[in-house]
Amino acid sequence: MLIDTFGRKITYLRISVTDRCNLRCAYCMPAEGIVRQSHDSILRYEEIFKIVQIAADNGVTEIRLTGGEPLVREDIVELIKMIRSVPQITDISLTTNALLLEEYAARLKLAGLNRVNISLDTLDPEKFKKITRVGSFEKVWAGILAAEAAGLQPIKLNAVVIRGLNDTEIPALAHLSVDKPWNIRFIELMPVKNQESWGDGFLPPEDAYVSKQEMLQILQTYNLQAVHDMDGSGPAKYYRIPGAKGTIGFISPIGEKFCDECNRLRLTADGNLRPCLLSEIEIPLREAIRKGEDILPLLQKAVLLKPGGHEITSHYSSTGRCMMQIGG
Ligand code: SAM
Ligand code: SF4
Repeated sequence: MLIDTFGRKITYLRISVTDRCNLRCAYCMPAEGIVRQSHDSILRYEEIFKIVQIAADNGVTEIRLTGGEPLVREDIVELIKMIRSVPQITDISLTTNALLLEEYAARLKLAGLNRVNISLDTLDPEKFKKITRVGSFEKVWAGILAAEAAGLQPIKLNAVVIRGLNDTEIPALAHLSVDKPWNIRFIELMPVKNQESWGDGFLPPEDAYVSKQEMLQILQTYNLQAVHDMDGSGPAKYYRIPGAKGTIGFISPIGEKFCDECNRLRLTADGNLRPCLLSEIEIPLREAIRKGEDILPLLQKAVLLKPGGHEITSHYSSTGRCMMQIGG
């Protein structure tokens, strides 16, 4: 079992499979994109598989694939099959922008994927284009319905709340949970190398943050009921509109820090273990694994270096890589 110096058990590994993406979300990356890693510096599937096996032998039971956009990596279905073959891994999930999900949902399910988290910040196709700079709302919506039809459940929809853009849509997004058994989750915007201006029509990034407390205030008329002991809730706190089929969650790393409950390690696409999303500490694995060295001591080192908590505020973080490079 991997246990950190604060007594937290590490049972969850979040793997970024690529630093490429078919969208350009304003809060996640610059309009011109980022300098991409060379093909050779990205971990191969056999290398990821080996890391998963060693992590699983040491107590990790949950794997989440993310990116960049995980569905743009070739043969992602094969990686899911490989991970599914590891008996200790009981839960495999994927975070996606859903642009390609209509095409992939059934195959992902067949390969052994349990569930998906889908990023959807707005129900307005114009705003969707503005936030993602290139995306098509209709394709994403079709992807969500395909995931539901394929049985990739529970469906979690993640909306990053941005003042002046989608804060007015919080009630409409929350209302989706009334008729659908979906988890609608509102995420506080984090200052992760996205502090440059996002262009015309956006507030300055430092003014765009909306706290969980303010979101709850906006939803006051719904009389939300707290939902306790929800399976697989992770860092989210859940509520329900009385009588609704689904739930509403909040992920509030700034307004209500949840570091004490953190059970995860992250693996970047270029093969660094990152004990905390919001700290610069990274332990390189790639060369060690390519030389055939034992990487368990590196996993243990990453766990021992896991900070007790992050130091970011709504305006400031020291993070030098943007979210899609780390694997948000
Ligand atoms: N491309 C996939 C997607 O969008 O779901 C997976 C990668 S994306 C980096 C993972 C999650 O990070 C998304 O839900 C996205 O909204 C969130 N995210 C990106 N930048 C963020 C930021 N600055 N603050 C809060 N969440 C952010
Ligand atoms: Fe791509 Fe996801 Fe970042 Fe949007 S949030 S740019 S979809 S990685």
